[in-house]
Amino acid sequence: MKERTLHHDLDAREMTRLRAFQCIREAGQISRTDIAKALNSSPATVTSACGALLEAGLIRDVEAERTDATQRGRPRVMLEVNGEALAVAGIKVARHAIHVTVVDFKGVEIGSHLSPLAASCMPAEALVMAVRQALDDACEKLALSLDAVAGVALGLPGFINGETGFMHWSSSVRERNVDFMPLFARHLPCPAFLENDANLVAKAEQFFGAGRGLRNFLVVTIEHGVGMGIVQDGQLYRGERGCGAEFGHMKVQFEGAVCQCGQRGCLEAYVGDYALIRDASVGRQGDAYKSLTDILDAARAGDRLSGEVLERASKVLGVALASLVNLFDPEHIVIARLRPRFDEAHTQAMLDALKRNTVQVDAPLPGITVRNLDQKMWARGAAAHGIERVSILKIRARGDQDAA
Ligand SMILES: [Zn+2]
Repeated sequence: MKERTLHHDLDAREMTRLRAFQCIREAGQISRTDIAKALNSSPATVTSACGALLEAGLIRDVEAERTDATQRGRPRVMLEVNGEALAVAGIKVARHAIHVTVVDFKGVEIGSHLSPLAASCMPAEALVMAVRQALDDACEKLALSLDAVAGVALGLPGFINGETGFMHWSSSVRERNVDFMPLFARHLPCPAFLENDANLVAKAEQFFGAGRGLRNFLVVTIEHGVGMGIVQDGQLYRGERGCGAEFGHMKVQFEGAVCQCGQRGCLEAYVGDYALIRDASVGRQGDAYKSLTDILDAARAGDRLSGEVLERASKVLGVALASLVNLFDPEHIVIARLRPRFDEAHTQAMLDALKRNTVQVDAPLPGITVRNLDQKMWARGAAAHGIERVSILKIRARGDQDAA
């Protein structure tokens, strides 16, 4: 598990500081007493951990009104994340654009920027330089000094090791097996973190969306390809080599359709936008569909093949989602699709296939949220991820200072 290895060089005292920080971030405002209860820790330990976080400027004291009218005297002292302490940039590389969202340390958006991308697949170094340019442009637009950005979190599709920053494969990058960390160090002005983009949507759901307060949930993203983020016991699960949760490459057909990963029979070779465009365009020679919108329009206008391709995709996706329920038994699944949205009938066909293929137990199915996904969700998730990583760096730096 990456999350564990990321934390592995924090000692016990630093881990307590990190857990206290996360507790404050999740709560919004919370008293030291309530942090001690939540962490099952002694008040003295929590007071000491919070003292270090206060000195590092990551949190601050706030006075809260007493809710109990009979209690007079001193107002209750609560803790909250010091939003103005640091700014973090979340960046999502999409096929035709780079989306930058800058947030304060509480996750409140300072602003965002969209930079067009010259090509949907480019050499790694050129991509990092384009990311740097997008970051510079965003800072200029937001009248923010680059020095104020404490960290950058970058989301890419593909097989990414989020802990080490190693990319095994991505549809956005021409080379395979790229160590992004030296490239980041060369071209970016602050610590940078690479992460699989679907994991970032899971982070966004955990921080801001349907995953708030849930311990076990799944997020499935459907766009050009199909991605998934797994949150287990409140943490992202990435697998041993960092490239688990590849739902899009789960095989749904033995020796089936060719996938963009090079293998056959993957889910996204039936459900991803590129697969729908390919399959609905069969027989159209020089007049292939350009986008999913074209296929939806054709199906609505009565084109038989387009209708069949969309219906099959909905059913295949529903069956695959049922396998997820059977494997993980999650509390909730978020299915996030980039525009355009499928028709209601397609969503229903997917949900029906899901229900029919889920192991039958006398308990309700997990909650399902089907939502549109906008590129900003990725960038917000990246920013949330950046806040977590930067807070770990700051806590580690503080620990080193204490030790010196
Ligand atoms: Zn594949």
